[in-house]
Amino acid sequence: MAELKVGSSIKIEYGDEAKIIGELGSGAQGIVYLVEYKGKKYALKWYFYDKLREPNAFRTNIRNNIEDKSPSDKFLWPQYLTEGQQNGSFGYLMDLIPSNYVGLTDILNTYKIEQIKGTNQVKKVPVKFTSLEAVVNAAINIVIAFRELHRDGKSYQDLNDGGFYIDVQTGDLLVCDCDNIAPEGDNYGIAGMPGYMAPEVVRGIAKPDVQTDKYSLAVVLFKLLFRHDPLEGAKVLKSVCLHEAADLKHYGKEAVFIYDPEDTSNRPVKGVHDNVINLWRVYPEYIRDAFIRSFTTGIKNPNHRIIENEWQKLFVRLRSDIIHCECGRVRFSNAYVNKDGMYICPSCSNKFLSIKFDDIDIPVFAGQKLYRCFTAKGNDDFNTVTATIMENKKHKGVMGIKNNTQDTWKCTLPNGEIKEVEPGKTRALGKGMTIDFGKSIIAKL
Ligand SMILES: [Zn+2]
Repeated sequence: MAELKVGSSIKIEYGDEAKIIGELGSGAQGIVYLVEYKGKKYALKWYFYDKLREPNAFRTNIRNNIEDKSPSDKFLWPQYLTEGQQNGSFGYLMDLIPSNYVGLTDILNTYKIEQIKGTNQVKKVPVKFTSLEAVVNAAINIVIAFRELHRDGKSYQDLNDGGFYIDVQTGDLLVCDCDNIAPEGDNYGIAGMPGYMAPEVVRGIAKPDVQTDKYSLAVVLFKLLFRHDPLEGAKVLKSVCLHEAADLKHYGKEAVFIYDPEDTSNRPVKGVHDNVINLWRVYPEYIRDAFIRSFTTGIKNPNHRIIENEWQKLFVRLRSDIIHCECGRVRFSNAYVNKDGMYICPSCSNKFLSIKFDDIDIPVFAGQKLYRCFTAKGNDDFNTVTATIMENKKHKGVMGIKNNTQDTWKCTLPNGEIKEVEPGKTRALGKGMTIDFGKSIIAKL
């Protein structure tokens, strides 16, 4: 396998050449170069030809993906193929990762390694999310990306922390390493990364597909939230090293979730797994339940794995469950005392009303937002803000709901009086009130 020389050029299919400017990184499959093509900079992934099991089929699959186009703007999708060289080597061009995105690997490590400018030395730079909202947004974006990919009838096949780049301020996402993505039923030799592979893939009885993607997706989400491997507890700790046989046992044949309610043999160990012990308590019960399902019945039965739509609903709910108290406390609602249908801050005793829909309970505080998926029937739009909660400028502590839609809502006060909330108008909220958003979406306070 010939490496490419800086300054040389490589022909791109359908015309022109890409000039090699420098090397960005290398891995087991090949080298990634910085190139310039038609006046724009790209990353070129150049393969070690002999490392590909079926190079021709692999290349055709990438070409098909280029022609099909990306299922979402969250993928760093292949854009152009290079012409094959005499020895068969080839590569593809993709966009560069913008500098505000950090690898999920670095986020999980809590630091990244950066070169000190003008020197050969490196330094550790801390990496962490700037808010709880950013963490939850990242989870939502990951779920949406895979929802779109799976809707296109394709699977990613190699989900692991190395493939995700995230803006820690916003939770914006880019999914990289898209070269193993293939239509359902196709696989070009990739099995996945240990720790992320579905148990049936570890056992060698299944190949990566949409169902195994769903398992790996749950692992990625678990690591993002809980900073730990879902199957690494006391049982795994006792087996001294993680060689292949142990991997097959703990991640394949005898995989046990660290918080399996019916099997306590693999609980996290205090002093060793403190991160996950602390974080497990931080998240509301509905989130913990989703992971319990993913890693108990979902381990054995691929059909019991959580589908992206359900994850989406759970994380959109979680995003609205972050209560910002005036005293500065920012936590999920389960860290507040829930009494008489209200949340009470344990630090300052501040009380919060909540807007109760059929299946979701939204805490009321200044700056809280309601999305179309809450206030419209059968809608999954979690981006459009249909209502904002604002504090009354004259009466401190009195919260109002502002109607950002074109519909008129009806509020029924505890005395039975009905008040309309016209588009753009705000109505003070009080306990005992109901809000009719139309089409029988009614919430109570
Ligand atoms: Zn407080």
